[in-house]
Amino acid sequence: MYSAKKILGLIGRNVGYSYSPYIHNVAAEILQLPYYYTIFNIPSPEVVPAALEGAKALGIAGFNVTIPYKKTVIACLDKLSPEAKAVGAVNTIVNDAGTLLGYNTDIAGIVIPLEPHKTMIAGQPVGIFGNGGAAMAAVEALSTRFKPSAIHLFTRTKEKGRTLCRHFEKRTPPISFSIHPFDDYAAIGSCKLLINATPIGTKGIDSGYDNSVIPPGTGVIQRGQVVFDMVYNPTETRLLQIARGAGAITIPGIDMLVGQASQSFEIWTGKPMPVESVKNKLRQLLKANNRLS
Ligand code: NAP
Repeated sequence: MYSAKKILGLIGRNVGYSYSPYIHNVAAEILQLPYYYTIFNIPSPEVVPAALEGAKALGIAGFNVTIPYKKTVIACLDKLSPEAKAVGAVNTIVNDAGTLLGYNTDIAGIVIPLEPHKTMIAGQPVGIFGNGGAAMAAVEALSTRFKPSAIHLFTRTKEKGRTLCRHFEKRTPPISFSIHPFDDYAAIGSCKLLINATPIGTKGIDSGYDNSVIPPGTGVIQRGQVVFDMVYNPTETRLLQIARGAGAITIPGIDMLVGQASQSFEIWTGKPMPVESVKNKLRQLLKANNRLS
């Protein structure tokens, strides 16, 4: 029987590149659920409140939120989940009959692929490259679920690293932070888990780092480490190639992308996303797109 579809969408700026519409529309199609996911490019933060008021009036079912509005939307929401409150950022909104609820599923997107390595990480030092929103979600995920002995932050600007640490300074037990430059190879080598939470390695971005936060030839990555690259395009980044070559365990960004999407999908629809089918289709799409460009 035909039924009109409920609308979901991604709020961000210049989000035409996003794979979220593909992920959610494929999942809805596989499960035969009446949802259609699209993108909403919002040019500036002043427009966000009007956009969300309009969404309530139109009965839009929910949103993902991406750069640069993950913090901006909070002032327009009626209630936040504990995770969204903890990091001060929202990537998922539900419109519950005019009440807007904010969630952060980026944290679950980090937890899900790390879960099989939990016992390896507990009590060991971990390293995060970057000091932005994704690095913050990684700190939240690691400190609350994986109990590492210390978090080494690798940043290009020490002060920005300090700002991130200050956000978590009231945690009990306290998080043991230290801040390092990208080329502190002794600190990198001491970490059981390394997470790249910068865009370095993304297709089409020339970062000046030879496409990897840890350049090839340093020999710093070893067997027994876990290397998690949040970058998902290409699926096999330079960092992951280097890590695999060194015998480390690798986690690709696509696992986080589909992990966070699966949590948002379930919040909106009440149904679990068919994760493996969606991931396989997305992998094929990314490969095909990269062959064409
Ligand atoms: P963000 O808030 O803009 O933060 C970006 C971080 O990367 C900042 O710490 C920035 O340093 C650093 N950075 C950027 N370019 C750099 C360069 N050339 N050299 C050194 N550091 C650089 O972005 P975000 O939301 O945290 O996202 C970070 C990355 O994670 C993005 O590539 C994003 O696509 C990816 N991500 C993936 C998923 C997924 O599902 N797989 C989810 C979320 C994010 P400064 O502060 O010094 O500029």
